[in-house]
Amino acid sequence: MSLTNKVIVITGGSSGIGAATAKLAVEAGAKVVIGARKEADLQKVVAATQSENILYQVTDVTQPDQVKALINLAINNFGRLDVLYNNAGIMPQGNLIEAKTASWQKMLNINVMGVLNGIAAALPLMKEQGHGLIMATDSVAGHVLYPGSAVYNGSKFAVRAIMEGLRQEEHNNGIKTGTISPGAVRTNLLSTTEDDQIRDLYERSNQAPNGSLAAEDVARAAIFMMDQPEGVDINEILVRPTGQGI
Ligand code: NAD
Repeated sequence: MSLTNKVIVITGGSSGIGAATAKLAVEAGAKVVIGARKEADLQKVVAATQSENILYQVTDVTQPDQVKALINLAINNFGRLDVLYNNAGIMPQGNLIEAKTASWQKMLNINVMGVLNGIAAALPLMKEQGHGLIMATDSVAGHVLYPGSAVYNGSKFAVRAIMEGLRQEEHNNGIKTGTISPGAVRTNLLSTTEDDQIRDLYERSNQAPNGSLAAEDVARAAIFMMDQPEGVDINEILVRPTGQGI
C-alpha cells in the first residue's frame, strides 16, 4: 500500500491499535503525528519507527485546545491534514449498576467527546483544503450489546451515529468518513481492564483458535481505508477474528 506523503494524525497513538497504525502508515510513506497522554510511551513509538516522518505531542482528547494543537503540529510541519484518525478510547470499569458516575463521565468524555473534539478541530481545515478523511475506531460493541457493558456500548453506538451523521452532512463537501469496528484485540485496553466479564471475554478469546485479533490486524484495515483513491468511499470496516461469534 502507498500512503506516500499523506499527512495523518492519530489519537491514542501511544499503544495498541493507534501505535500499530502509526508504524504501518510511516512504512507506507505517510507523514504521521501521534497524540496520547503519556509522553514516554509516545517517545517509544516514535523511536521504534526509526523515521523522521513521525512526530508526537502529549494530548488529552477531552481537551479541545490540546486536540487543535495536535493538528496544528501536523499542519506546521507537514503542510496539510489528509487524515484524522480518532482512535483514543478506554473501557469501562464495572457494569452499569456498580460503576460510578465519574467513571461513566470519564469514558464518555474520552470515547465520545474525544471524537467530537477531533472532528471540530479537523473539519474546518479539511473543508478549506477541499478534501480529507476523518476516521474513528468504533467497535463491534457499537453494533452488538454486550452483557455488563452498557456504558461502553453506549459510547461506541454514539461514535457510530456521530460518524454516520458527519458522513451525511459532509460527503458532498469532499470530506470522507470511516469507522473501524474491531472485535476483541490483544491490547492494553483488554488485558488491563478491572472488569471481570470483559477480562473473561479477553481470556476466553485468547484461548480459542483465531479467537482474537492483534493490533496489527486492525491497523491493516485502517491503512486500507486511508489508502482508497478519490471517489472511493469506504465508510465502515468490521474486523473480527474467524473464531468470534459476534
Ligand atoms: P490501548 O489501551 O492499547 O490504546 C488506547 C490509546 O488511547 C492509548 O494510546 C491511550 O493512551 C489513549 N488514550 C486513552 N485516553 C486518552 C485521552 N484522554 N487522550 C488521549 N489519548 C488517550 O487500547 P486499543 O485496544 O488500542 O484501543 C484503541 C481503540 O480501539 C479504542 O477506541 C477502543 O475502544 C477501540 N477498540 C478496542 C478493542 C479491543 O478489544 N482492544 C475492540 C474494539 C475497539
